[in-house]
Amino acid sequence: MNPGASASMVGVKYVVCVPDGCADEPIDELGGRTPLEAAHLPTFAALAARGEVGRAAVIPPGMPPGSDVGNMSILGYDPAEFHTGRAPIEAAAMGIRLKPDQVAYRCNLVTVGDDGTMLDFAGGHPATEDAAAVIEALQAELGGEVSFHAGVQYRHVMVAPAAWADATCVPPHDLSGRPVELPTGPAAAHLVELMQASRAVVGRFGGKANQIWLWGQGRAPQLPAFRDRFGLSAGLVTAVDLLRGLGALTGIEVVEVEGATGWYDTNYEGKRDAALSTLAAGADLFVIHIEASDEAGHAGDLGEKIAALENWDRRVLLRLVEGLDELGPWRMLIVPDHATPVAKRTHTSDPVPWLLVDSTTPGRGGEFTERGAATAAVVPGHELMGRLVGAHRPPAAP
Ligand SMILES: [Zn+2]
Repeated sequence: MNPGASASMVGVKYVVCVPDGCADEPIDELGGRTPLEAAHLPTFAALAARGEVGRAAVIPPGMPPGSDVGNMSILGYDPAEFHTGRAPIEAAAMGIRLKPDQVAYRCNLVTVGDDGTMLDFAGGHPATEDAAAVIEALQAELGGEVSFHAGVQYRHVMVAPAAWADATCVPPHDLSGRPVELPTGPAAAHLVELMQASRAVVGRFGGKANQIWLWGQGRAPQLPAFRDRFGLSAGLVTAVDLLRGLGALTGIEVVEVEGATGWYDTNYEGKRDAALSTLAAGADLFVIHIEASDEAGHAGDLGEKIAALENWDRRVLLRLVEGLDELGPWRMLIVPDHATPVAKRTHTSDPVPWLLVDSTTPGRGGEFTERGAATAAVVPGHELMGRLVGAHRPPAAP
C-alpha cells in the first residue's frame, strides 16, 4: 500500500493529537462513566460535534499493547509489518544506528532480591549521571561482543550480534514483586550469563540497582520515510524516547520543547505552540504527544487522569484550534495509542476511540468517548493517517 506520494492540497495543515493511554473503562467512582466522559472537556466536545468519531485497533491482534506499537500505528505504519521490537526504536532515539547484523536490547538497571524477586524494575530510579558511570563500567568489563549505551535513568541499551535476538524475554515491569523469569530460547544462555555477570559490576556502585535486565530486543526496523509514504513534511513533539525514535526512523522532525517532562507537569502550552510555529514555518503535519494521561493510568490516579484530559482541552486544543484557523484550512486527528485504564494500571489492547475533524466540513457529529465510539466499526489503527491526509490527495494520475 502506498497511501501517498502526493502532496496535500496546498496549504492544508494536519495535526495529530495523542493523549497517551487516555482511553479507559467505566469506573464505579464516576458513576459508571469513564474519565473521557467525566472530565470537563468543552473543546473536545465542540470538535466532536463538528467531526467524525470512530474506533480503531491501534494495537494489532496478537501484538503487545505498548506505546511503540500504538504510536507506530498512529504514524501510519502497520506494526504487524514493520515492528521488530521496542529496543531498536529506543536505540534510534539515542542516535544508535544498528547494523543489519546487530540486535538492540533494552538494558534496565534493576533491583533483584536475594530470593530472586524483582524488587524494582527501575533500580531505584538512579540519576542519569550515576547510571552513566555504571554503564561505562559494564562496557569496560563486559563489552566486546556486545556494547552498552547509556540512556536516561534506569533505561539503557545493549547492542549484540543478531544471532542473540532469538530469545523470549519478560519485561521487568511485568515481574514487579514476583520471582524473576529468566530469558528462554536458543540465545537465552548468552543473556542469562551477562545478567549474572553484571551483578559484580552494578553492585559495586552502591546504588539500589544490583544488576541489568535485558528485554525488548529487535533488529533495525525498515520504515519508509514519512514524506515518501504520505507526501508530507512532518514534525512531532514528545518527551518519550519511543516517540523520538519513531521520529528518527521515519524522518519526522523531533522538535524540542523546554519543560516537556513526560509527567503531569509537562509544558502543555509549549507543545501546542511548537505545533503552531512548526506548521506556520512550512511543515504540513504535526504530532503532539503527551504522556501524562498514561502515567496517571499506571499510577491508578483517577484525578490526575481527568486533569490530564482537562489540560489537553484548555491548554492545548482551545488555542490550537484558534491558531490553526489563522493558518487556513486544517484537519485534525485525536487518538490515543492504547488504553491505560486506571483500574488496571497497565495498557490494554482494546480498540480506542478516535476523532477526525475537518475545518471546512460540518462532519457527522458525535462524542469522543469510549461509549460514543462503541458502535463504530473497528478500523486498523495504521489506516487512520491515510484517512487524515488521504481526503486531500489529488486524484490518481491516469
Ligand atoms: Zn502509550
